[in-house]
Amino acid sequence: AYNFCAGPATLPEAVLQQAREEMLDWRGTGMSVMEMSHRSDEFVQIAETAERDLRELAGISDDYAVLFMQGGASSQFATIPLNLLGEGGSADYVNTGIWSKKAIAEAKRYGNINVVASAEDSGFSSIPDVSAWQTSADASYLHYTPNETIGGLEFDFIPDSGSVPLVADMSSTMLSRPMDFSKFGLIYAGAQKNIGPSGLVVVIIRKDLLGKARRETPTMMNYQVIADNDSMYNTPATYSWYLAGLVFQWMKAQGGVEAMGAINARKAKKLYDFIDTNDFYANPIDPRFRSWMNVPFTLADDALNADFLKGADARGLLNLKGHRSVGGMRASIYNAMPEAGVDALVQYMAEFAKERG
Ligand code: PLP
Repeated sequence: AYNFCAGPATLPEAVLQQAREEMLDWRGTGMSVMEMSHRSDEFVQIAETAERDLRELAGISDDYAVLFMQGGASSQFATIPLNLLGEGGSADYVNTGIWSKKAIAEAKRYGNINVVASAEDSGFSSIPDVSAWQTSADASYLHYTPNETIGGLEFDFIPDSGSVPLVADMSSTMLSRPMDFSKFGLIYAGAQKNIGPSGLVVVIIRKDLLGKARRETPTMMNYQVIADNDSMYNTPATYSWYLAGLVFQWMKAQGGVEAMGAINARKAKKLYDFIDTNDFYANPIDPRFRSWMNVPFTLADDALNADFLKGADARGLLNLKGHRSVGGMRASIYNAMPEAGVDALVQYMAEFAKERG
């Protein structure tokens, strides 16, 4: 079966196999990773290896702290302003869809939030022209969502924020291709797409941005505290951290982000090319800003949606139903989705359109 779920998403088969083999007895210790103390030599080795591999894969320098936190990406919507806004500070946000809106709504609880550009005018089908962004030079940071998982709208560039720290919710695009992380002050990614199981959130923060949390910031949300304690101020999500480490090793074996990027570009092109050349299917996004990871599409007749999904399920093409807020279909094709999965989907779509279109 091929699982096109947006998250929690499919994990590499080889990672699941390895986890299964090691589940009851990790490398002769007689313990599952789930049962190990997070302070044990064994787990510290697992944790450090995962961080090192992530740094190597993404090209993260020592100027940045890598944190393995909990509460998913959504908890970061509050954690970021609490840490970076300062007393009475303001921050700039770009609104490109549902996840940006959630980040904005949460940040507004903590300070003065300016929405400096919105994709609303285009029905969230295109990235607003950068020359019209109303950014301010004294903002504490500029936040944007490089890939809107639900809308399928993705930046094909990194915005230039000048001296203002750039903050990005990379939940659904992290590690999908090479990216210059030195342009960012902070990035965060919920793990359940390209990294591992849900609940875990990876935060990469430039070290000069640590130590700025407001006094009322809960200890567990204070980046400085988490960094000072190697993400073990409390008991971390050890098993998720371990699985993320296995995913990083798998990615390295595939050739790293360059190789992943080339495969992902090919997968996305195949699917969009098919949608564009077949009258029965449509994708509403400006071709320049189409997501490589999440491909929403509609059928010519909504009345056929249920049949389409039933037929897909029968072939082992799972979880193609679009997000409840937008309807239609959505195929999430993260790193772990093999190219053969996209081929199988395209073949099914072609047959369905021929029979029912
Ligand atoms: N941001 C983006 C871009 C997402 O796609 C998601 C989840 O799908 C989230 C944030 C929320 O993540 P979590 O459920 O881990 O809080």
